[in-house]
Amino acid sequence: MNWDSIKKIAQDVSSGKVTAEELVRRSFSIIDETKDYNAILSISKHRALERAKDIDNRIKNGEKIGSLAGVPFIAKDNFLTFDTPTTASSHMLENFYAPYQATAVERLEAEGAIMVAKSNLDSFAHGSSTENSAFGPTLNPIDKTKVPGGSSGGSAASVALKIAPFALGTDTGGSIRLPASFCGVVGFKPTYGLVSRYGVVAMASSTDVIGPITSTVEDAALVLDVMSGKDQFDGTTIDRDTKTYDGKPMSLKGAKIGVVKEYLSSGIDKEVKKVILDNVEKMKAQGAEIIEVSIPSISLSLACYYVLVPAEVSSNLSRYDGQRYGLSDATAKNLDESFEKSRAAGFEAENKRRIMIGTYVLSSGYYDAYYKKAQIVRTKLINEFEKVFKKVDFLVGPTAPMTAFAIGQNVHDQLQMYLADIMTVSANLVGIPSISIPAGMANNMPVGLQLMAPQKADRALLQIAATIEEDN
Ligand code: GLN
Repeated sequence: MNWDSIKKIAQDVSSGKVTAEELVRRSFSIIDETKDYNAILSISKHRALERAKDIDNRIKNGEKIGSLAGVPFIAKDNFLTFDTPTTASSHMLENFYAPYQATAVERLEAEGAIMVAKSNLDSFAHGSSTENSAFGPTLNPIDKTKVPGGSSGGSAASVALKIAPFALGTDTGGSIRLPASFCGVVGFKPTYGLVSRYGVVAMASSTDVIGPITSTVEDAALVLDVMSGKDQFDGTTIDRDTKTYDGKPMSLKGAKIGVVKEYLSSGIDKEVKKVILDNVEKMKAQGAEIIEVSIPSISLSLACYYVLVPAEVSSNLSRYDGQRYGLSDATAKNLDESFEKSRAAGFEAENKRRIMIGTYVLSSGYYDAYYKKAQIVRTKLINEFEKVFKKVDFLVGPTAPMTAFAIGQNVHDQLQMYLADIMTVSANLVGIPSISIPAGMANNMPVGLQLMAPQKADRALLQIAATIEEDN
């Protein structure tokens, strides 16, 4: 059964038509029915029900709750939350209970939303398929033999499985948009800094963002509206738009939409390309001006990303030293041995690969050849996007060059796995908002259409995405 829109659910809870408790129990029973997908790692049995009952009581007493009254949601298991462990899908944090909650979760709760469960991800969000989870892969809701994408695969699968109306994801190089595209749902990556990263397990701090995964663009906008804005605990946060983010469709007449040439050249699945071009035709029919644009450095973006991100990963993961919190090997005889044994046991192979690559590209002698060069490419990419956004309002292309691949297909071929991110990493390196919306089917699997806009144009991006969604 489909969930109503988030707006309608909150209205129904607020008017007493349905209770928050009923909704939370509905999420719990779907979690139970869909266990074999392995989308969920832990359930907030106690706290979610307590909060639901409290909300229902307050409504009975005539209190106003908020714009998300009683709306259940799922948080990726790298958000710090009360009541459940926060594992980042790693043995390193397997038994870690956070002493405080992520700002995003706090803000959603303040408006009445209820976190019911935590979802599976690639360990520490390193991956594109959820196969790097220490707790087994999530299966794709449309075809169980396929991956759901990653790293927020559990969150995207949860929304596709209708466990809750929305889920939270993190996107460092595509981890919201790629699984949204593979599972046939909406995934929104806001402008860098628009949503606080406080209380979220850090991957690469210069590209990490938090965003919603939903069934509709309007729902994504409502969730963003609640989460966004400055946070004193995250110095990179920026002021939000003073108007609400409502995701209301806008006319495409006169909108200048750039089709990125590099995203439609070789390497893209033919069927995926056709779905995207059909969508572009529809935009044209609705009055959009379609302009072909070129961003030459896109061809370097994946290489650039896989130097800079491991560098930041190696630094961010150094805090897991077996001493302060997380896994600590009890057999170690001295401090060095404790570091070694705890890190060897706690991290997955992909985490270790990134720590090694990151340490290498930052080491003296190789810094100039790799890290510095990648930073120069990043600046070049930023400049090229800026130049293109002088000509067009939005950019369009596929979210990924392929549809969901088979479980196990790419686990031994890292390059192939990394190639799934080739169309998403640029938005992270440049810091611009980007959204993936369902665009049609290819190879019997969903295809995601990716739209991008200049920094801080999140509102317009959501509006144009809502228009295209309506036409599909
Ligand atoms: N798949 C990309 C990676 O492995 C993106 C991960 C993410 O956005 N968290 O780095």
